[in-house]
Amino acid sequence: MDWAPRVKPIKIRRLYRYARLGIYDDTLLHDVGSVLYARCMDIATVADVYRGGRVPCPRCRTKVTRRIDPLFSKGEGGTYEHWFRCPHCTERLLWRDCRQALRDTPRCFDCRAVLYKEVVLRCACGKTWSQEAYKQSMRTRVLLPCPHCLDLVRRPDSPPVDRTLKNQRSNPELQCPKCQGVALHQNGNIECTVCGYKRRWRDYRKSLKKKDEKLECPNCEYTFRWQAWRKSVRSLRTGNPRPAREFVKKWLRCRTPQQRMIQIDTLLQTLHGRGPLAPLFIDSDEYKIRQMLDDLASQR
Ligand SMILES: [Zn+2]
Ligand SMILES: [Zn+2]
Ligand SMILES: [Zn+2]
Ligand SMILES: [Zn+2]
Repeated sequence: MDWAPRVKPIKIRRLYRYARLGIYDDTLLHDVGSVLYARCMDIATVADVYRGGRVPCPRCRTKVTRRIDPLFSKGEGGTYEHWFRCPHCTERLLWRDCRQALRDTPRCFDCRAVLYKEVVLRCACGKTWSQEAYKQSMRTRVLLPCPHCLDLVRRPDSPPVDRTLKNQRSNPELQCPKCQGVALHQNGNIECTVCGYKRRWRDYRKSLKKKDEKLECPNCEYTFRWQAWRKSVRSLRTGNPRPAREFVKKWLRCRTPQQRMIQIDTLLQTLHGRGPLAPLFIDSDEYKIRQMLDDLASQR
């Protein structure tokens, strides 16, 4: 699958140089904006895969449903019955999003300010963590900042598993690994209705994961592997796809060059200080992008 390229820093600099002179070069605005738009679409698409378990075919983009539904796979980050709402800003969250946000932008557990990355992680309030201790702490804490409003949210209890829903969802997809016949998930096993193959469900799922799921596009019949697909989108994956989604929503509604400039500027301001999120959009490394965004901010 061809993913949209990232935007070139030199174009962003040019855009701001002109804007400071009061010039809104619409060709350049369209140029930068449409690259960002395509990139944001891809980031949102990839985020959807991790939410919904449907993978776009690399050839025709038809969505292919995974047999291991990540929504039911704890390893890949929880289920939609695990959604909860932030009690402060009412945004819908998954606990893993709260963790991922801290991976993207480490924040102080005390005052929630963005931490400085030195050899250790340091907060302006005086607290420090080693990278390892921070990670460890993030994994075990029951209170983490909401990625949207930064108020503390409590880790939700795991809801009871609804077995009927689970079966309804996974049964139509099941294939016997031995004969490809129809298999059922019952009695804690996978049981083939054709050849009699039987195996513990847990072991079966584990083996699927290890074996690397093979996906077949129902439209063009192209087959591909989940692990390879996953690797190919590594540079597009983030636990915080919100800035990308926002841009997608707003860009096409812009009618004037000024509005276009505002949307681009809004996105860049959001990326500023978000560390590893910015290189998903801009074709450079974290450090250089930060310098550029610092420059642009100081000239605003
Ligand atoms: Zn919130
Ligand atoms: Zn602090
Ligand atoms: Zn069979
Ligand atoms: Zn296809």
